[in-house]
Amino acid sequence: MPTEPTTPARPVLPGRGKVLVVDDSSAMRLALESVLAVEHQVFTAANGPEGLAIAASERPDVILLDVVMAGMDGYAVCAHLKSDPRTEDIPVLFLTSLAGEAEETLALEAGAIDFLVKPFRPRVVAARVRNHVELKRLRDRIRQQSLVDGLTGVANRRRFDEELLEAWSACALNQKPLALIMLDVDYFKRYNDQFGHPEGDACLQAVAAVLARSVTSPGSLVARYGGEEFTCVLPEADALRAMDVAEHLCTEVRALGLPHPASDIENIVTISLGVASLRPAAGGEPQDLLLRADQQLYRAKSEGRNRACG
Ligand code: GH3
Ligand code: MG
Ligand code: MG
Repeated sequence: MPTEPTTPARPVLPGRGKVLVVDDSSAMRLALESVLAVEHQVFTAANGPEGLAIAASERPDVILLDVVMAGMDGYAVCAHLKSDPRTEDIPVLFLTSLAGEAEETLALEAGAIDFLVKPFRPRVVAARVRNHVELKRLRDRIRQQSLVDGLTGVANRRRFDEELLEAWSACALNQKPLALIMLDVDYFKRYNDQFGHPEGDACLQAVAAVLARSVTSPGSLVARYGGEEFTCVLPEADALRAMDVAEHLCTEVRALGLPHPASDIENIVTISLGVASLRPAAGGEPQDLLLRADQQLYRAKSEGRNRACG
């Protein structure tokens, strides 16, 4: 008697992935849920608009999307998913009983990564979904690593460049100011010279942690600009507000009380900060804001360090 081929036992990790099933047949939703819930957290939606709402709020790792649905069909739902920055990276697997070259082409061209033919074979569905969840997680990790500074855990320069441009456009559109703080550790070369690079690294981590926990307003960003220079993007902050934030940061870093005997200032680690705020013009570029913050940082250095200028 032929036996079913057995797959090697895999460790079942509950909540390993988040999967959204969008199908207008409740029998199909139930069947898929019972297969997938063994390994994943499963969400279900009975129509396109409901699926879009859950996709945006839950950010699943994979979406299984029925093609033929009343109202909004699967192609339209997929087009919406791909045009929304919150959901554009989520892989979509079409569920279709329309197996044929034309349908496959349409599905793939609509942005689907794969498709499953109904009636589906449970173990094939489970394996494909598992593979796509793993690939999605890997992509997320690579993307995350490409945007974070390895030493300090704050945003890196690449992320800063991206976010500054976005904040610039958003503030131009909403006619709000945009502020930038550039800051630099004082006499840091002497710190390294005295304590060595590993201690220098630990100092940068401590300074970054202060910045990260102090700058938390909506849309704000702390990034390592390079070396011992950091930057804070503060959307909708005018010059006064940004100066308040900068002075607070200066105080908080001083309050760490990290010994720095070679510093000319109080024998502890301090920072200097340059502050700029302006109202972005549509079509303009953030270079002007960066330049102004940098000039103010230079002023803070030349006026004695351990201060904010703006
Ligand atoms: P100033 O007060 O004018 O800013 O003087 P400074 O000594 O801080 O400035 P300078 O630009 O002369 O030196 C910066 C030092 O920062 C030199 C460099 O070795 C150190 N540095 C840059 N990146 C890192 C890093 O990732 N780790 C460590 N430990 N040191 C770093
Ligand atoms: Mg420097
Ligand atoms: Mg320095």
